[in-house]
Amino acid sequence: MERVRGMKIAIDGPAGAGKSTVAREVAKKLGFLYVDTGAMYRALTLKALQSSVNLNSESELIALLNRMTITLRHEPGGQRVLVDGEDVTEQIRSNEVSKHVAQVASHPQVRRSMVEKQRQLAQRGKVVMDGRDIGTHVLPDADLKLFLTASIEERARRRYKELADKNPPPFEVLIEEIRMRDKQDEERPTSPLRKADDAIVIDTTNLSIDEVIDYILNLVAQKWDRGARTHGHL
Ligand code: C5P
Repeated sequence: MERVRGMKIAIDGPAGAGKSTVAREVAKKLGFLYVDTGAMYRALTLKALQSSVNLNSESELIALLNRMTITLRHEPGGQRVLVDGEDVTEQIRSNEVSKHVAQVASHPQVRRSMVEKQRQLAQRGKVVMDGRDIGTHVLPDADLKLFLTASIEERARRRYKELADKNPPPFEVLIEEIRMRDKQDEERPTSPLRKADDAIVIDTTNLSIDEVIDYILNLVAQKWDRGARTHGHL
């Protein structure tokens, strides 16, 4: 695996399909940079909620984004998310942020600014990036595009477990909230959640995290083998 060079891996899919866990582990195994683009939209949403910014106002959100700093810091224990130097890794996962993030992410100018940062982070090449529009818009030239899905019940179950010690809403409410967020992500006019034509779909409903990771690492190895054969290095 060490010989894989300059590969860009895009992982998209709806909420709770297992993207971040899988993307983080795949990046770790390959020694690549992991970029959690959802965390960037979540960081802005948290700050907007704390600053009582009107989430329908694109100009207010852009003004806020321009005067704050979002840092994705990579530590051995995982990625930390900092807003203006303050660690907000846990806070951005709150249900309050989850409920409002799709609204914030629907504004075209907010997206433009985030996408610019994301492309800069991917420049180095060895990157695994997860989100909603990575394969279709942020990195259309990605070497490997994956689209992770799972049944809505399974996705809500995973989210419920994640929130277990944070006073989760009733399971049925959670299903409804996820359904709403998917709908907003799929129906927004700018870069909606959509499978790229050349993405490989992985339904994770009945798969363990390790199975999904192994499957993706195999795809990476195959891709590299094919590249090596094409370029006559074997
Ligand atoms: O992946 P995560 O659930 O953390 O993403 C939170 C939200 O951020 C998504 O529901 C979506 O509204 C937004 N998002 C986006 N484009 C991305 C990543 C996330 O619009 N590339």
